Amino acid sequence: MKNLYVNVALPVPVNKLFTYIVPEELKDDIAVGKRVIVPFGKQELTGIIVEVSNQSGWHKLKEIKDVLDPAPVFSDEMLKLTRWVADYYLASWGEVLKTALPAGTILESKRIVKLRCQPDPNALSKMEEVSPSRAAVLKFLISAGSPVTIKTLKSKFQFKNIYSILHALESLGYVEIERYIPSQRAKAKFEKFVSISEQYANNLKKLTQVIAELEKSAPKQVEILLFLIDQLKKGKSEILVSEVLRKTGGSAQTIKKLVEKGLVKVYEKETLRKFEYEFDEPDKEIELNEHQRKALNEIKSAIDSGEFKTFLLYGVTGSGKTQIYIEAVNEIIKLGKTAIVLVPEISLTPQIVNRFKKSFGDIVGILHSKMSIGERYDSWRMIKDGFYRIVIGPRSAIFAPLNDIGLIVVDEEQESAYKQFDNPPRYNARDVAIMRAKFNNAVVILGSATPSLESYYNAKTGKYHLLVLPERVDKARMPKIEIIDMIKERKEHNNKSSISTTLAQKIEERISRGEGIIIFQNRRGYSTYIECQDCGYVEMCDNCSVTLIYHKAQNHLRCHYCGFVKGVPEKCRRCEGVKLKLKGVGTQRVEDELSQNFSNAKIIRMDLDTTSGRKSYDKIMRKFASGEADILLGTQMVAKGLDFSRVTLVGVISADIPMLIPDFRSSERTFQLLTQVAGRAGRSEKEGEVIIQTFQPNHYIFDYVVKHQTLEFYERELKVRKDLNYPPFSRLILIEFKGENEQNVELASDEFAKELKSKIHQQVQILGPAPAAIPKINRNYRYHIIVKIPKQFDKTAREISGVIWQLKEKFEPKLNSKGVRLIIDVDPQNTV
Ligand code: ADP
Ligand code: ZN
Repeated sequence: MKNLYVNVALPVPVNKLFTYIVPEELKDDIAVGKRVIVPFGKQELTGIIVEVSNQSGWHKLKEIKDVLDPAPVFSDEMLKLTRWVADYYLASWGEVLKTALPAGTILESKRIVKLRCQPDPNALSKMEEVSPSRAAVLKFLISAGSPVTIKTLKSKFQFKNIYSILHALESLGYVEIERYIPSQRAKAKFEKFVSISEQYANNLKKLTQVIAELEKSAPKQVEILLFLIDQLKKGKSEILVSEVLRKTGGSAQTIKKLVEKGLVKVYEKETLRKFEYEFDEPDKEIELNEHQRKALNEIKSAIDSGEFKTFLLYGVTGSGKTQIYIEAVNEIIKLGKTAIVLVPEISLTPQIVNRFKKSFGDIVGILHSKMSIGERYDSWRMIKDGFYRIVIGPRSAIFAPLNDIGLIVVDEEQESAYKQFDNPPRYNARDVAIMRAKFNNAVVILGSATPSLESYYNAKTGKYHLLVLPERVDKARMPKIEIIDMIKERKEHNNKSSISTTLAQKIEERISRGEGIIIFQNRRGYSTYIECQDCGYVEMCDNCSVTLIYHKAQNHLRCHYCGFVKGVPEKCRRCEGVKLKLKGVGTQRVEDELSQNFSNAKIIRMDLDTTSGRKSYDKIMRKFASGEADILLGTQMVAKGLDFSRVTLVGVISADIPMLIPDFRSSERTFQLLTQVAGRAGRSEKEGEVIIQTFQPNHYIFDYVVKHQTLEFYERELKVRKDLNYPPFSRLILIEFKGENEQNVELASDEFAKELKSKIHQQVQILGPAPAAIPKINRNYRYHIIVKIPKQFDKTAREISGVIWQLKEKFEPKLNSKGVRLIIDVDPQNTV
């Protein structure tokens, strides 16, 4: 008989496919797009079949072990898309495919197998002859008398191919495999968890030292710590207390001692799988205004013609973009097609989710980061099976397994949250959206009040089609913006507080009128650094080259990059002086000042530190919407997307921080942030006012912000970018080297750069290698090379990518042995 081979994409970081031979009993089960289990070195991996063939140039191939799916999990379209992502972002195809699936493979084995009908004795004995393993499984199911999980079958029978056996039995009609994992949709339930304290979890070496000291005196504590470390290494950072006690034989008393020593922490957490937005708003009838209608008509005619087309919907804050999304999606649904709506961070956009739910009900599927693995898996299946026709989610939702996509909306398209930066594939979901639409002849709407410079440029040059909503809906006016010079404030008013007299007076006014106030400060914590008044020394993190932030509630200093924590020192580390001062303003300090100055006001703070619980965000939003709280104070979280008609004043405590970040996008980002936060004010008939405080009042950004001259600002910024040859006039590839030994890191980056230079076109600029703007994070030194490919050389970009892949694979083994990691980021959103 002829041999059959498959090429499999595996989630390993190499740029190639792996060929396996298909054993006889699995031949009928093979198809492109299905998951298979294959041997890889000493382990087993799950990969995707991307090619089937009768030939192979290889000898001594290994066999695949099992086929996990009765039907392909990836359509041809998804294979094409993921392949593009892999090539463009220099990731392995297998890694991209893994990202595109929910992380539910472990749960697969919990699926339940039911007997549907008994075979007649003849059929059974025939099966015993032809396929004894199928017969054995079937007989077991008959004798079991009740449904069993795949896991049980796996452990009962040592067959390696239990899945394909079950698929065969299912297609013969004897059994049924439940497609959904029974989720515990029970009531809220709280359970106690334990995990290693942040500062030790991030520094296991230090913990090992502690363990060595405890070894003799407290063996039970050591046992628990070792268990937790072991779990942490397996990727489980928190464990049920009950499980720890069971597995280690320790007592609650032992854990308590560890908590007292600050080595571990214990906390309660909800263990419910269901997650719903409870934040609700009243219904209202909406009739589109003229600008909205015009924009929608253009979108509709593109939808009707079934062509690929990308729109940039540039609409000022409060111009009713969401309503256009809804009506465009409605058009798609009427045509029997499907749609994806991307939002930067779903837990921060309950309002948009609510509006879609209200308009389309049960066909809206939601994906988000606070879902458990099980929930996400269920949603994914419901999408795949066609129950959900509209999917709303953050960047990963761009891989939702919808068929026949007609429309993709990317709301706030400029947001860097669309870029995955921490793990490969480092893709930008906005750009993947455009490719996916292209493969589907679908329409894309990129929406924003502050588009990215790249998208604006693409619209200007005709690659995208520009739609403009120049006015706010319902006759609401754009807010009045005023810049406050904080240097003058200090001098003339002798005001040392972080709230200017003007802002204070306006806050007072709104409180007395019962109107809503949003106060924005882009830093959390209390003070942003602690400085010695004698020698100027600033306390830095032990692991990172950044300052430590003072947190008042815990009375400690904390690193916002690695979680390192330490007590507040009594004297300066350098000169032993005792005059240490908390400097810089974080949200906690603003909260303190506000409550001192406005004792009659109710203030709620919203930042990472107050929204860690699942429901805390909703609670804050409801309190503020209902008017129970007067002032909503917070970081970026309060700056974007919120639509509250009662807000008439927005205060920006300091506009300076984002401006100082050494990245070529920092002016663009600052402009966008200020315009967005200003856009929260005056969204109804009551006029809004915005107060922006700064120590650099003459910075050109403010001229444009005050006059709402977004496109004028973009034109100016484009000139700068053109002169410096930055995107959109070039493409960047960032290559990062990092490791604990600085010399090794530097050397590696030098060698890499040298070889790269010798292999690519002279017009392609190579910047660096140089230490990154933050040269050390989490004990790792960081060096950067930036490859700048001018637009006119865009065609050679593929070639350059190829060279970089080759070098990466060549260098990697050597670098790994020296403890240096190499990270490639195409179109980086962050070069710091
Ligand atoms: P954007 O996303 O552009 O900031 P939204 O879509 O959030 O604006 O719209 C702002 C508010 O205006 C929402 O409460 C929305 O329901 C309402 N709205 C949208 N279009 C209209 C309209 N044509 N007439 C009245 N209200 C509208
Ligand atoms: Zn740190």
